Amino acid sequence: MAAVLLDGDPIESLRDFVAAGGGEAYAAARQLDPSVIVEEITASGLRGRGGGGFPVGKKWAGIRAAGPGRRFAVCNAAEGEPGTFKDRALLRHNPYRVLEGLAIAAHAVGAEAAYIATKASYQREAEAIARAIEELQAGGLLGEVRFTLVLGPDEYLFGEEKALLEVIEGNDPLPRLLPPYEHGLFATDIQTGWQAVDAPPGAVGQGGPNPTLVNNAESLAHVPRILLEGAAWFRSLGTTDSPGTTVATIVGDVRTPLVTEIELGTSLQSLIEQAGGPRPGRTLRAAFSGVANAVIPFSQFDVPVSYEGLATIGSGLGSAGFVLYDDTACMVEVAHTLSRFLYVESCGQCRSCKFGCGDVTRSLASLLIGEGTDQTVEIIGARLRSVTDQTRCYLAAEEQVMISSILREFPEEFALHLEGRCSVDEPRTIIVPKLVDIADGVATYDDRQARKQPDWSYSRD
Ligand code: SF4
Repeated sequence: MAAVLLDGDPIESLRDFVAAGGGEAYAAARQLDPSVIVEEITASGLRGRGGGGFPVGKKWAGIRAAGPGRRFAVCNAAEGEPGTFKDRALLRHNPYRVLEGLAIAAHAVGAEAAYIATKASYQREAEAIARAIEELQAGGLLGEVRFTLVLGPDEYLFGEEKALLEVIEGNDPLPRLLPPYEHGLFATDIQTGWQAVDAPPGAVGQGGPNPTLVNNAESLAHVPRILLEGAAWFRSLGTTDSPGTTVATIVGDVRTPLVTEIELGTSLQSLIEQAGGPRPGRTLRAAFSGVANAVIPFSQFDVPVSYEGLATIGSGLGSAGFVLYDDTACMVEVAHTLSRFLYVESCGQCRSCKFGCGDVTRSLASLLIGEGTDQTVEIIGARLRSVTDQTRCYLAAEEQVMISSILREFPEEFALHLEGRCSVDEPRTIIVPKLVDIADGVATYDDRQARKQPDWSYSRD
């Protein structure tokens, strides 16, 4: 399969972008009625690549249908899912294409301004975006819409779309209650009690909901070529329910961690083989698609990497970032480490989420050191049942789905720990694979994560 997004050499200048046909899709889009663009994207079957898999055309149509008033378009390039590096790979490869997709989206939904948000620590990508915006605007290739690059914090929740809008408005990444299409950027009609911060004095009741389109960077990167080559071309790739390609990441206990583009429907097993398979002398036992989905046990590694394929086995595609664990990993420790990640990253606006994730994490820690009892297991079960009660975002559901699945798939490991034993002779320390970089078969992880505390500060050791 020819690469669609990671095609050719990296594009590092506007001249190279234009020479490769860049800008043609936006020029064509401006000649079309926006409804025609939305129809084509809908017909392509493109689904959001940020994790939700929501149909992109349907999302655009919803923003267009939201009645009169201001609109905004946002590119979410603040990826933070453990094991994922796809947006940064795309922005390194061709930031111009992501921006062209955002310009088309802004045109299609009638946005007055466009924002692209990424983490300040993603310095290389941020510099590439800033340069590309400057060049594209100077070349008149972004039309009249104003583009702004927003640099935000390292917190996991920054990538959550309702929290991302807060960051664009200059606040902390605390998810709002209402989704962006109901309460968008700079909306002032419903404020106090409905979002993370109080409204400025006198603002309540003014203005409108400002429906805001938020799309993931990869979703937008697909748009220009779909417009140029047509929905049928896009549907010739992938599967019926998961058309096209995706940029997948594979890290953890494999020989050569990598970021690569695959046709959706490719088996997880073949992706693992592209990454060189297990480390010498080891056997793989489990994979996770980030921390948002159920564990994929080794026996199901032939699963197609597609929305429907992973759903069939009770897991999910997420952002196609896979973390592999081999037979040196204690699954109780894996559960504890991933639960701690979500507990630490939870913002605490919802009591059941912060306290529930905390109780599960502490209970898993007790089990891990052989101090767990039947009551410890009961507490885990009870908290997993209630952790999503009245919550604002999906983080609590991630804890529920992911930890429950590990308990279900590896009950014998938990039973051993109740007896003070472990299935692994010399268990190693499990880390959260929050990627800093991935190059030449080597993945670098953020080693500060283990020191991060539930109040988002960092301990010294
Ligand atoms: Fe914060 Fe958790 Fe509530 Fe999400 S569910 S807003 S992370 S407390």
